[in-house]
Amino acid sequence: MSERISVAIEMAQGWRYSSGDAMARFSEGLRRKRIEALQCGGCRRRYLPPRPVCGNCHLPLSDWVPVSDKGTLEAWTVVFLPFLDARTGEVRDGPYGMGLIRLDGSDATLNHYLAENDPARLAVGMRVRAVWREELRGAMDDILHFEILP
Ligand SMILES: [Zn+2]
Repeated sequence: MSERISVAIEMAQGWRYSSGDAMARFSEGLRRKRIEALQCGGCRRRYLPPRPVCGNCHLPLSDWVPVSDKGTLEAWTVVFLPFLDARTGEVRDGPYGMGLIRLDGSDATLNHYLAENDPARLAVGMRVRAVWREELRGAMDDILHFEILP
């Protein structure tokens, strides 16, 4: 009978991918604190993050509409365990809040971090706003997190 040996190997691996035209424009907007959705000419649904084709009508989307950086918390959770942040590649220590936020003017929700991490202070329907990074880079993490509006 052979003995199994497990060897841990760490690898640093970087990659780049093409964002596509819609995400390229969206990212450029973020660099100017401008959030834009793509609206379907058929069903009028506004997609955020933008996507090139409507999921309902299958029509190509090209009508850009600005949306607010304020919105409504549609769902939330608090994560208590450290987790690998896919946006940065760094481990994010818990606890931290995550939310699905429907920005004013959008029909879709964004998944993003919340400044609040106390479950007793979070509720569906709360009004929130984006807190922007000081140096904008044209990336989703130009929005550091969303904070609860008073
Ligand atoms: Zn549509």
